[in-house]
Amino acid sequence: MDLKFYNTLTKKLESFVPLTDRKVGMYNCGPTVYNYAHIGNLRAYIFADVLRKTLELAEYEVIQVINVTDIGHLSSDGDDGEDKMSKALRREGKPMTLDAMREIADFYFEAFKKDLTALHILPATHFPFASDHIKEDIEMVAALLEKGTAYKTSDGIYFDTGAFPSYGALGGAVSLDDEHSRIGINSEKKNARDFAIWKFNSELGYDAPFGKGFPGWHIECSAMSRKYLGDTFDIHTGGIDHISVHHNNEIAQSESFTGKKYVNFWLHSDFVNIGEDKMAKSGDNFLTLRTLTEKGFSPLAYRLWILGAHYKTVLNFNWDAIEASSQALKRLYSHVRTLSREGAGIPVTAYVERFNGALSNDLGTPDAIATLWELLKDSTVSKQDKYATILGFDKVLSLGLADVKTVIVPENIQTLVDERENARQEKNWTKADELRNQIKSLGFEINDTPDGPDVVTSL
Ligand code: AMP
Ligand code: ZN
Repeated sequence: MDLKFYNTLTKKLESFVPLTDRKVGMYNCGPTVYNYAHIGNLRAYIFADVLRKTLELAEYEVIQVINVTDIGHLSSDGDDGEDKMSKALRREGKPMTLDAMREIADFYFEAFKKDLTALHILPATHFPFASDHIKEDIEMVAALLEKGTAYKTSDGIYFDTGAFPSYGALGGAVSLDDEHSRIGINSEKKNARDFAIWKFNSELGYDAPFGKGFPGWHIECSAMSRKYLGDTFDIHTGGIDHISVHHNNEIAQSESFTGKKYVNFWLHSDFVNIGEDKMAKSGDNFLTLRTLTEKGFSPLAYRLWILGAHYKTVLNFNWDAIEASSQALKRLYSHVRTLSREGAGIPVTAYVERFNGALSNDLGTPDAIATLWELLKDSTVSKQDKYATILGFDKVLSLGLADVKTVIVPENIQTLVDERENARQEKNWTKADELRNQIKSLGFEINDTPDGPDVVTSL
């Protein structure tokens, strides 16, 4: 498979070539664990999961790192505002201590992992917590100070973007003459784009040679990615909101520190909005996976909805959309139920090639799903071969297709199902309902689908 990805760094679709043969190092910016993840956040990890599984389909071994930001994340990309973790301590009535911060982090990380499992997202190879990597942060900050690419102000250590001429290569960076970001926030900053890599805090924080405090959010990602993936690695992902500040900053710090290229491929997934609004953890309009399941939707219906759009397309969440996706998932299951597990099916080359081709083309999940539907409806392919083919597809789509069991419908039940279908065709609803009840009393249920009645066991 010749994988092609759109690289935010070069603004081009490029053939993927890893640094080391058949091995890929991938870093996905992870959750800030001061609250539950919302379904928008979860899109970023469904995307990372599909990327990982596509790489595995192409026979690469993937070392995947999803960091856990459990300290030092300020209220926005900027360097001001109340730290999100401190805010969570206050909200939950906990003492202002590092231990209490970790308790909050552990709690929301466990909730995050449950969401990943429910969405059939594989766990990363490493889930490093920022608070366990202070030593690595200090090493970087100290070295940047030493090199003169960072400087001290009264509230922290700042990276001097003036000392990194290629700053902003990913695009969207603050313009150099943005006086507001320089003076409005910190008049000691040399350039508008300079950012904190360490913030002083004399009461709560970690001891460091340059002063007690917390690492900046950006330095945490640079330090953890380096520890697990090395100075230069293959793929870095995150949501599009990370491009302009967080990721430009990561590049500046890491490349200044190592003197080497940081990352070869940058991939960014777009947002899930509600109506016209962005969904934000700090706002009121956020929906969790639990909200969806409480309304009776399977997490996999959400996964299917996400995969139905290309990752670089913005999605607007509404209940009709998730309802339609839920119906589509049920229809998929109905089809799969009728497929034969008997005998040795062989994956159908033409469909496998189309499916792999769709994913190779910058993770074209909508085309991959369209291929799945076409295969299921193709009457020229045997049920055994269909089943063998979709098992392969589900290794990447992970919609639970491999878990769908066939239902063996006894002859007497099938006769009743056919009779009910005839009654429905004749619009004899009373008779159809009576037959449905009779079928139910015998332990089977009927789901009517656009492709005909689907029979499942109700026992
Ligand atoms: P956070 O936990 O806020 O640091 O964000 C975790 C991930 O979710 C990051 O990759 C963000 O870019 C991404 N993200 C945040 N909000 C949204 C949203 N509304 N839709 C999609 N992705 C988002
Ligand atoms: Zn990050």
